[in-house]
Amino acid sequence: MKKATQFIHAGAHPDPGTGAIMTPIFQTSTYVQEAPGVHKGYEYARSQNPTRAALEEALAVIEGGQFGLAFSSGVAATDAVIKLLKPGDEVICGNDMYGGTYRLFSKIFLKFGIVFHYVDMTDLKNVADAVTPATRLIWAETPTNPLMNIADIKGLANIAKTNNILLCVDNTFASPALQNPLSLGADIVMHSATKYLSGHSDVIQGALVINDKALRDELYFIQKSCGAVPGPMDCFLVLRGIKTLGIRMERHSFNGEKIAHFLKTHPAVKKVYWPGFTDHPGHEIAKSQMHSFGGMISFELKNDTMDAARKVLSGTKLFSLAESLGGVESLINHPASMTHASIPREERIKNGLSDTLIRLSVGIEDADDLIADLDQAIGLTAGHE
Ligand SMILES: *Cc1c(COP(=O)(O)O)cnc(C)c1O
Repeated sequence: MKKATQFIHAGAHPDPGTGAIMTPIFQTSTYVQEAPGVHKGYEYARSQNPTRAALEEALAVIEGGQFGLAFSSGVAATDAVIKLLKPGDEVICGNDMYGGTYRLFSKIFLKFGIVFHYVDMTDLKNVADAVTPATRLIWAETPTNPLMNIADIKGLANIAKTNNILLCVDNTFASPALQNPLSLGADIVMHSATKYLSGHSDVIQGALVINDKALRDELYFIQKSCGAVPGPMDCFLVLRGIKTLGIRMERHSFNGEKIAHFLKTHPAVKKVYWPGFTDHPGHEIAKSQMHSFGGMISFELKNDTMDAARKVLSGTKLFSLAESLGGVESLINHPASMTHASIPREERIKNGLSDTLIRLSVGIEDADDLIADLDQAIGLTAGHE
């Protein structure tokens, strides 16, 4: 089945009791048993819920995997993956990634004895060099948040396979419509379903997709034992979001391309981070592993003062100043003080995330209106060079 069809039909089975075409929201904590131990596969809703089961099936189908697992947030999904490990195990991860992932690794799991090596993953040699006999997991994000760096998923998978290490890819920025890491050799795909999967900025949720049954069972055991499960209403919302994921991502990519080019030619803009540019260092790899380049763009002004950045951040009218991304509406964000504030400043600067970087989540409005909005906001900095 082609992708566009999968987004509409994955996980959707008419309700056997009523014929309802949409999966009902099974708002229940428990299930009545006919006799002790005699039940329909549903015992207690932390372990199983039919709305969640429909979503988990859909997640697997649209990522091209065998099994899906839904969590109460993206970081809860990440948390479950790290709980596969034990003290002394080592993880190789990127030096540019979502701030909350960095916080979870460095502030929570470090004290449980898990060792994290942060490397520049745009060069596979850095990853290969960081492998030790204790390495159990490679954690990759591509494109990265917020610098839009690209890691070669196939290359990472080769290193992982050769050394018997798991590879997990945070696929939030691309979404299953633009990139499918399992098909490139990853073992686990992680999503913040809060973002493109839900698509409407109305739910917090996370997801994992896996091919290997034993690995799925281990992660399911963690999911039910640790309990970070999403409620049925949230599962319903993400199921609904997935139906339009294909056409939304087409429009996000279309608008993203227009805005990236507008910014690149703007006289007040110094640098634009977007993997669709042919001169982006990761462009060829991005082109080979992504269907299109999406709607996430970061940029810096020639005037690199906080005052100028603040004028743009507060000056847009259609782009709302907010954390998060992937919704139908456009957002503007200041990583240094918002999404990535939990990363120490020296670390951020060292990895190329400047104090004045501005990140855009380009929505699906009319691109001309979005460009006019950015143009007027950047214009507010004129005469302050
Ligand atoms: C938002 C985000 C997360 C965390 O997900 P939550 O749903 O906020 O817990 C992880 N990775 C990336 C790339 C994100 O953008």
